[in-house]
Amino acid sequence: MSAAGTGTDVLRVEGLTKRYPGSVLAADNVSLSVAAGELVAIVGESGSGKTTTLKAINRLIEPSEGRIQFQGRDVMGIDAHDLRREIGWVMQGDGLFPHFTAAQNIAVTPRLLGWDKPRIAARTDQLLELVRLDPADFRDRFPLKMSGGQRQRIAIARALAAEPPLILLDEAFSALDPVTRAGLQEDFTALQHRLKFAAVMVTHDMAEALLLANRILVMKDGRVVQTGTPSDLVNRPADPYVTELLAAPAKQAKAVAALEGAS
Ligand code: ADP
Ligand code: MG
Repeated sequence: MSAAGTGTDVLRVEGLTKRYPGSVLAADNVSLSVAAGELVAIVGESGSGKTTTLKAINRLIEPSEGRIQFQGRDVMGIDAHDLRREIGWVMQGDGLFPHFTAAQNIAVTPRLLGWDKPRIAARTDQLLELVRLDPADFRDRFPLKMSGGQRQRIAIARALAAEPPLILLDEAFSALDPVTRAGLQEDFTALQHRLKFAAVMVTHDMAEALLLANRILVMKDGRVVQTGTPSDLVNRPADPYVTELLAAPAKQAKAVAALEGAS
């Protein structure tokens, strides 16, 4: 659980730096670790380096400096395609293939892994049930014929298809209305408790991070300004920027609390 990590970490990122040609540092000395069953949230405004950090983990981009270990192995020593089959990825938007049905979207990684058809069909139905969509109703549906929340459930099912030990989520719930988002957040937490995968969740929403994360990294301009548990951040904000990010959820909670019992 510590920021420094333990021997059983699924993921360890040490001193990750990404320098784009001619530009500022997109990620500047970022370190984090995640153990099985843990969720680490990366919170920060647009352009703070959150997506850059996630993409370095599954080798969609190459770091300029630093070391990333997945299950104790340096990711640079793992074939990038193999690595991505072992790491679930829920990208910004939903990233579903529009010309694929729900079942075909979910089956992308199992097919790459060469599973036979009956195994894929059984797993697809099992995953639809896991994300609480009726297989008979959704199996053959195309993304265009689903709500945003339903599409996001398919994206999560797809990420979980081959039972990866690590899931990366990039603003997975950000585009949803508050009620749909709350339902999906709750279901995702329940899934994680059940399946015990490690997760790194990128979000610009501090309230979401406070609700879901075991640990939070606050990023600004590529740098980590604070790492801590939700209670560390709330009780001991280490930077004025952290205080600023906490102000909105605190204000909303106070406003609702003040109304309770009033009539
Ligand atoms: P976030 O996900 O927090 O919004 P990003 O990680 O996408 O932020 O971007 C961090 C910084 O890196 C931004 O200033 C962005 O403009 C820059 N950046 C991202 N991708 C590239 C790229 N391919 N080339 C140059 N600069 C990039
Ligand atoms: Mg981003």
